Amino acid sequence: MSENTMRIIDLRGKRLTRAEMLDAMPRAEMGTNEASDLVRPILEDVKSRGAAALRDFGEKFDHVRVEHLRVPAEAMQKALDELDADVRASIEESVRRSRAVCASQVPEDFHTDLAPGARVSERWIPVQRVGLYVPGGKAVYPSSVIMNVVPAQAAGVESLAVATPPSRANADGLPDKTILATCAILGVDEVYAVGGAQAVAMFAYGARGSEPQDGEILCEPVDKITGPGNIFVATAKSLVSSIVGIDSVAGPTEIAIIADAQANPEWVAADLIGQAEHDELAGSVLITDSEELARKVQESLDRRVPRTEHAQRVHTSLTGRQSGIILTDGLDQSIDAANAYAAEHLEIQTEDPDAIVPRIHNAGAIFRGPYSPVPLGDYMSGSNHVLPTSGTARFSAGLGVHTFMKPVEVIEYDEQGLKALASRINTFAVSEDLPAHGESVLSRFVKDPYDKATL
Ligand code: NAD
Repeated sequence: MSENTMRIIDLRGKRLTRAEMLDAMPRAEMGTNEASDLVRPILEDVKSRGAAALRDFGEKFDHVRVEHLRVPAEAMQKALDELDADVRASIEESVRRSRAVCASQVPEDFHTDLAPGARVSERWIPVQRVGLYVPGGKAVYPSSVIMNVVPAQAAGVESLAVATPPSRANADGLPDKTILATCAILGVDEVYAVGGAQAVAMFAYGARGSEPQDGEILCEPVDKITGPGNIFVATAKSLVSSIVGIDSVAGPTEIAIIADAQANPEWVAADLIGQAEHDELAGSVLITDSEELARKVQESLDRRVPRTEHAQRVHTSLTGRQSGIILTDGLDQSIDAANAYAAEHLEIQTEDPDAIVPRIHNAGAIFRGPYSPVPLGDYMSGSNHVLPTSGTARFSAGLGVHTFMKPVEVIEYDEQGLKALASRINTFAVSEDLPAHGESVLSRFVKDPYDKATL
């Protein structure tokens, strides 16, 4: 057995029930219960002490005393001025592609005329104020700034704030400069040097500040919080979700690759490693009907893993119980397994990917063919990289313009339209023992809606 051996889940010849198939899938444990105990007091403390608590938690968890919780405009401009020209060009390319896709995503209002004087229309209304979390603990993610901010702006969100952890590389606790510069490129000027659960609390409850003067508002509460983060961020989002909207509670990142005998094992292995690099708990799953390909991928992993920079993290992730090679008896079973796993990222590397794409029900995003690998989507395909994890792609979607909008129906009936339905509404209301509902409608058309004899 080689050092980086992934476990094999052999489904060949098995006819599994839906429950058995779901159970057979490799999954990480979320561990949110223990995190809840840690996060609750953080939320409470920020709620009661505002900025003072935010500073204390920054010191405790990020190991730096933050001078300005809200990043000053001059610091944003300075970060932009000092940004490396190549990095800036990459960021701008990513923004351009993301903006183009988001512009096509904006949903259109519509109306339906049901009868004369009877219309229902639907208006898509942007969420008014959003808080966008950009992770910055183990690594910094300027790409996440783009993935959150661009769709929110395309949706027409009026007020938009970003929070990201303070960096101890900066004595005053300013966040990572590339993140600040990306915010500046996107025209976002409300940025907080606040990370983790405390950032989520600040967005949910708002916070009074110790700057510029005690008691003044530092951050107004938001209507919705989006963005990925670690277990503390995810748990905090789920705990505040009864008072504020959230996008999703993200678990560790994951990839599944459906590959057949035609796939290039070196590319498959490289993509599994790329995902594993994120996190020890990241899930990398190969779904294949070719034992030969599985063997070659395994051999390639053995050669590649020791040579990659984060070899230890990759090794832990690939050999963890959340990763594995699912062996199937054909493409049909591979597709069933992919739908059961409901990967955050699903790559299809088969002879005829177009035969598979329409049969995928559950995936955060589908990467079709060997030249659409996940890192393309991570940075600049134009698609969004904030995607549902842990099997939640069965019922939810990734971030997009729709995340920042709400459809609201407008009911537009006139006298004629309502009169035509008055008696039917009254019948319905009486059958539900809610006669005042009927009386409300009838009041508009009869003298005494309470006198049943006159109806
Ligand atoms: P993070 O910003 O999510 O978390 C850092 C914060 O965690 C710190 O500011 C600190 O306040 C808090 N923290 C640290 N230790 C703590 C403790 N013991 N108790 C309470 N709070 C504590 O950054 P991260 O840790 O690097 O995690 C980023 C996560 O986001 C990774 O899992 C990464 O895979 C994920 N991610 C996902 C996407 C996506 O689109 N799905 C994109 C980028 C990153």
